[in-house]
Amino acid sequence: MPELPDVEGFKRLLARNALRKTIDQVIVSDARILGKLPARTFIARLRGARFTAVRRHGKHLFAAIDRGGWLTLHFGMTGALQTARNRETAPPFTRVRFDFVHDGSLAYTNKRMIGRVGLVEDVDDFLAEEALGPDALDPHLDFDGFRAAVLTRKRDVKSVLMDQQVIAGIGNIYSDDILFQARIDPTKRIDRLSPDELKRLFQKMREVLKVAIAHGAGAEQFAERAPKGSLLPSRHKGGLCPRCRSPLRVFKVGGRTGYCCPTCQAC
Ligand SMILES: [Zn+2]
Repeated sequence: MPELPDVEGFKRLLARNALRKTIDQVIVSDARILGKLPARTFIARLRGARFTAVRRHGKHLFAAIDRGGWLTLHFGMTGALQTARNRETAPPFTRVRFDFVHDGSLAYTNKRMIGRVGLVEDVDDFLAEEALGPDALDPHLDFDGFRAAVLTRKRDVKSVLMDQQVIAGIGNIYSDDILFQARIDPTKRIDRLSPDELKRLFQKMREVLKVAIAHGAGAEQFAERAPKGSLLPSRHKGGLCPRCRSPLRVFKVGGRTGYCCPTCQAC
């Protein structure tokens, strides 16, 4: 499921392959991904236009349209952005495709159709409406800001990390790895962490996300190429801790399945 590092990968892909190119045609193969927005409105706004900038907040991606407004992309469980060199070879599960004049295509793919493609007039208004917390890699988010945000909740630390209205960008997979690297029990209440644990949580949150981006998160089969010591490749039944080889503990919070090491995290 795409989380902050994956969406950052899609952001870079869009920036490299789609900025400042004139959109020749827009193909909506499945209009359900647009929600209530009529496909013809969407197509009319974008045909002949150009994307001039790209911005990410948490798991949301935005591309500025030269005529005004922004394209919004949310990837849900199985969404991705991919490029296609020619129009006959669009990737499987392409829902929306942008063909650029003489210059390739950009495909939004989504197997399970959870996610959304849309238009907004203003990104900051959108973020306010969604009540999203600060982006987990926002350079203005310092430890004091992080602590103030997370201590508004009195729940288990994993649920708080995944709460997009507290901190935006982290989901089930990266919350497991962040808590593993910080050696914190994911089920512990966040307001019961020691000052040192809270500090470590903040540092590891940023480190894990940055390292994943640097290793090319967002591409297929990323877990197999994950950085050394990452929990990602072990997140499966029978998985072993990459540090001490203990069998990982499988647990549930808020309907999500998490993994932690009973030895390293005392969980
Ligand atoms: Zn361990």
